[in-house]
Amino acid sequence: MSFIVTLPINNIQKVNIYQGTHGKYYCIQEDGQDELFPIYYDINFPLHWVLNEKEYYYLNDKYITGPQHCKNCRDYGYYNGVCIAYCINCAKELEYTRGNGMIDEEGTEFDETMVNLDLNGFNRENSMWNTYLKDVDLREIGDVQLKEEYELYKDLPDLIDDETDDETDDDSKDESILVNEKNNECTIH
Ligand SMILES: [Zn+2]
Repeated sequence: MSFIVTLPINNIQKVNIYQGTHGKYYCIQEDGQDELFPIYYDINFPLHWVLNEKEYYYLNDKYITGPQHCKNCRDYGYYNGVCIAYCINCAKELEYTRGNGMIDEEGTEFDETMVNLDLNGFNRENSMWNTYLKDVDLREIGDVQLKEEYELYKDLPDLIDDETDDETDDDSKDESILVNEKNNECTIH
């Protein structure tokens, strides 16, 4: 990776932009905070989404969409070391307005043929490949070194969790895992 530029967002946040081996990506940094494992987003992932994640409740536990708080997004929303999409649970909570949710690290997006459920709000037109990743080639996303680091650290959620966030119950987050590890089938909640 090579650093390109830092741009201010507001008085306390800035965005650092990098050139990876395959594509550009960014992370958000808050004043005085130097995160060990920042979340890196593909340059095409809308910054205003990252700055405006949605809080929601499921079975009385509070969740926040996006990879900063959601382990499923970190497990399924990445490609070549950078976040390119929400997981299917977060995508559903966002009423499919920010893509339909990714189900693997190959850029495969959820679609209605994969599950026989009433998918309120689901629309193929909202696919990430029709919106913010339209005309983007997967070969132009990510960074080889970040991919290696991601593989090393993605199974250590305690390390990459945002420890400064006191409001979110860390123990409850792991219960939201949407893939049954035994048969590796995706389910939607
Ligand atoms: Zn998620």
